[in-house]
Amino acid sequence: MPRELLLSILVVIIAGALSLFLCLFAQLKIKDAPGAKAYILVTLLSSIFTFSYAFELSSTSLEQIIFWLRVEYLALPFIPVFLLLMCIEYVGHRIKKVWQYALFIIPFITIFMHYTNDLHHLYYKSMELRSDSPFPIIKLVGGPWFYVHSLFLFLCVMISIIILLKQVKKSSFRFKMQISMMVAGLLIPIIANYYYINGLSSYGIDLGPVSMSITFIFHGAALLTFQMFNVAPIARETVFESMKEGVIVLNQQGLIVDYNRGMCKVMPMLDEHSIGKSITSVLNGNHQLRGIIDLKQDSDFNCSINGDMVHYHIGFSPVFNKNNLPIGQIITFADVTERVLMLEKMKQLASLDGLTQILNRTFFIKKSEMLFDALSMEGGNVSVIMFDIDHFKNVNDTFGHEAGDALITLVANTAKEHIREGDLLGRYGGEEFIICLPNTALPTAYELADMIREKVSESIAVVNEEKISVTCSFGVTTALIEAGDRSISIKTLMPQADQALYAAKKKGRNCVQIIA
Ligand code: GH3
Ligand code: MG
Ligand code: MG
Repeated sequence: MPRELLLSILVVIIAGALSLFLCLFAQLKIKDAPGAKAYILVTLLSSIFTFSYAFELSSTSLEQIIFWLRVEYLALPFIPVFLLLMCIEYVGHRIKKVWQYALFIIPFITIFMHYTNDLHHLYYKSMELRSDSPFPIIKLVGGPWFYVHSLFLFLCVMISIIILLKQVKKSSFRFKMQISMMVAGLLIPIIANYYYINGLSSYGIDLGPVSMSITFIFHGAALLTFQMFNVAPIARETVFESMKEGVIVLNQQGLIVDYNRGMCKVMPMLDEHSIGKSITSVLNGNHQLRGIIDLKQDSDFNCSINGDMVHYHIGFSPVFNKNNLPIGQIITFADVTERVLMLEKMKQLASLDGLTQILNRTFFIKKSEMLFDALSMEGGNVSVIMFDIDHFKNVNDTFGHEAGDALITLVANTAKEHIREGDLLGRYGGEEFIICLPNTALPTAYELADMIREKVSESIAVVNEEKISVTCSFGVTTALIEAGDRSISIKTLMPQADQALYAAKKKGRNCVQIIA
């Protein structure tokens, strides 16, 4: 047997073995993945085709060659169909069962035409041994159906490429590489077929079987390096990309491995070139975020996006390999703005009085206690004013409850306007109010009380076209807290202020009384 032929047969056998290996590998490792069933069938058919071709090449007579050619045609016509079905399923598309069956019509006709060629010569116009070859090799002249079969094969591969390329557009960088590899694999048989059909291959040796094995190497490589079927792009698109949370995946060295669209909101500097760069270099200008990511501890983070303050909860999840060794981490940015705003609102609701929007009694006492604690450290004056609307029952009785509410609000607003920053104003009861004045001695407290008294008496509320005015009585008390003295608290001053208020009521109302 000539060396050249021997070499060709060897290459074809290796190609067949490779297809068979990929078929077994897929059967063992990835048989439930999308597109895997078609991949298993296509590699099996390819290996049958390729081994038969090896027998064809080693045949010594025309009869033997025709026999092996027929065996080849039991597999070959179905290969483009399964390739197409693999790509369709791989990108997550579905086609109707009817269309799936329809795809097999031309392959079956091809087999029929091939087997009955002697009767009509529609597949091969002629089949004879080449006279210019040093070894027996068949010279086939294609008939009309041969070209139908070739066109069908070409179209199936082209449609597969188009389907993959459409998916490339939608995918992230990582999957662009993976799908591009599949596309590259599909281009090989097209090029090989071009050479074969145009008679450019030496002695008319069909490059198809070998080229197809190379195709499957590409697909196999895509499968091994990028785990093609395990993390099919479609699953990633739907789960990873549509997540509301921003997600970024880092390897153990802090290099960016992947990120989703949601992440670009938090880190607008991310683009496809960021993959493989270190997170610290990408976050160069953002020291706060860098600090959080360096610490690797769950934490809260605020940032302004398009002028709006957005609150994130950052979570860290370590990623381990099969041997339980840490290989990186997934960082999630959950937008908790709504929750934070709701909490703030709830806190506000819990601390403010609904009618007057000043501190409620509980919160006033709590804040005053904190204020007294601070005062007891360094010492200082503190004064407390209590005041109550005069003859308020009459207002309610004469003008109704609604008018009463309007007047309570008017008094609260008047007091709010005159207190200073740091003073605390609270609604103590129905129409009773309290003010705590840190670092304030009696004269100032008295002046403030009298000022509010005067302003209230001058104010008029208009309710249902009725002009109503009220007066208030005030009780003022004060204490000098020595540094370290914790015996004086808001609770000890309140009864004193209340007594002073009682005295003011007794004195005739609309006045300020002091008990120090
Ligand atoms: P005095 O001058 O002695 O304080 O007489 P007064 O009529 O104001 O007496 P008192 O302080 O005991 O009366 C409180 C009244 O305030 C009783 C209650 O009907 C009314 N009141 C308490 N809370 C509210 C409120 O939220 N809205 C309205 N409209 N009235 C309230
Ligand atoms: Mg009253
Ligand atoms: Mg009262």
